[in-house]
Amino acid sequence: MKKKIAIATLGCKVNQFESASFISGFEENDSQLVPFSSPADIYVINTCAVTARAGQQSRQLVRRAMRANPEARIVVTGCYAQVAGEELLEMIDNPTCIIGNGNKHLLVETALTDTLPELVMLTGKISMKKEICPLPVDRFSGRTRAYLRIQDGCNNFCSYCIVPYSRGRSRSLPTAAVFDQVEKFAREGYREMVITGINVGKYGLDLDEKQNIYSLLESLCRRYPEMRIRLSSIEPTEVNGRLLDVMTGYGNFMPHLHIPLQSGDDRILARMNRHYTVEVFVDVIRRISTALPRAAIGCDVLAGFPGEDDQAADNTFRLLEGLPVSYLHVFPYSRRPGTLAASFKEQVDGKIKEQRVHRLRELDTRKRQAFYRQHLGTSQQVLVERQNKKSGLLQGFSENYIPLQFKGPARLRHRIVPVHFDRLEDEQPLGSVEIEQE
Ligand code: SF4
Repeated sequence: MKKKIAIATLGCKVNQFESASFISGFEENDSQLVPFSSPADIYVINTCAVTARAGQQSRQLVRRAMRANPEARIVVTGCYAQVAGEELLEMIDNPTCIIGNGNKHLLVETALTDTLPELVMLTGKISMKKEICPLPVDRFSGRTRAYLRIQDGCNNFCSYCIVPYSRGRSRSLPTAAVFDQVEKFAREGYREMVITGINVGKYGLDLDEKQNIYSLLESLCRRYPEMRIRLSSIEPTEVNGRLLDVMTGYGNFMPHLHIPLQSGDDRILARMNRHYTVEVFVDVIRRISTALPRAAIGCDVLAGFPGEDDQAADNTFRLLEGLPVSYLHVFPYSRRPGTLAASFKEQVDGKIKEQRVHRLRELDTRKRQAFYRQHLGTSQQVLVERQNKKSGLLQGFSENYIPLQFKGPARLRHRIVPVHFDRLEDEQPLGSVEIEQE
C-alpha cells in the first residue's frame, strides 16, 4: 500500500527548493503525494521562523496535521523546527520527527522508515555544519521557473535576523553538483532559473574550488544560452563591477536585482549590524541604473527597528523616494527571541510601526507604477507562466520583472513570447502578444 504524504512549506525560495527535493525523493520511493488538506500517513511541515507570524503559522500547520490524522507521523523541519524544537515537542502528541536544516537530506529516508521510535530528534548543532545538504530536485510541479539553490546559511548576523541561528554558517553547493542540477532543469524544459540561497553573494568562499558567485553566474550564462538566469537577491556589499560586467555581457542574464536596504539611516544600519552606509548603497544603485538603464531594482526595507525615531524613518522614506528603485518589499520589524535586537531597548510602538509600513507601501505602489510607465509602448520578452483564472488572460514576467497580462492561447504556457506593453489598467500592466496566432 503506497504511503500517503502531505507536504506544507512556508517561507523563502530555499525552503521551496528543499520541499521540491522532498517531493522528488518521496516520488522516487513510490509514495503518493496528497494535498495537505487530505488524510495522510505522513505530514511534512517545512517551517519558517523569520518573523513571529511565521512561527505562529508553522504551529498552526502542525495542529492542522494532528487534527487531520492523530495516528499520522508528523515530520517538522525548517527554521522553526531548528530554533524551537522543544516547543514543538510540547505541542505534538503524534509520532514525531523533528529534522533540522542540516539534516534535510535524511528526511525522506527517515520519514519512510517503518520501525521508527515515537520521537526522532535530528536537529543537531547547525552552527557546526560544514557542508550543504545534497538535495537534488527533479522538477517544480506546476511551476514554469525553477529555483536553483546554490548556497545555504549566513555569517552576517544582522542583529534582527534569526537565520544564522536556524541555518548555520554559509555553505555552498559544489560547482559540479550545481551543474548536475541545472542539467536536470534543462532536460525538464525549464526556460528560466532563479538563482537562490540565503546569502548567494558568499557563494564559493567556503569551497576548495576557485569559484565565486560572479564566475558561477558567468559559467551558467555561457553554458545555457537558452536559459534565462535571474538572481533572487544579493546583498549590496556584493554588487560590484564584476557582477555588472556579467549582467551586461550576457543577454540571458535578466536585468533585475533585488537588494536588501533595510534602513536608509546610518545610525540604524549600524544597530542592525549591516555592513554598509547609506552613501555606499546610493552608489550601488546609481551604478546599476547607469550600467543597466532598463533593469528592475527591488529593495527590502524594514520599518520600526528598535531606536528608529521619526527622523530615521523619514531618512529611509526620502532616500527611497529619491532613488531609481522599481519596487519595495516592506516588512514591519518582528522581535525574534534569540536575536541581538530582541534585547534592544527603544522597541517601536506597534501603531507607529504600522504607519511607517503603510507609508512605505504607498511609496512602493508609486515606484512600481512609475517603473511600468517608463516601459509603456515597448516590446517585452515574457515567459508565460499561467492563465489568470478570473480574467482568462495569460500572464508572466518580462526580463525586467514586469508582470504582464495579455490575451493568448493556453499552448503559449512555458514559452517566451514577445508582448507589446500597451497600457496600465487599475495598476495592472496589459499587453498584446506579437506572434502569428494559428
Ligand atoms: S544577511 Fe542578514 S538578514 Fe540576510 S540572512 Fe544573513 S543575517 Fe539574515
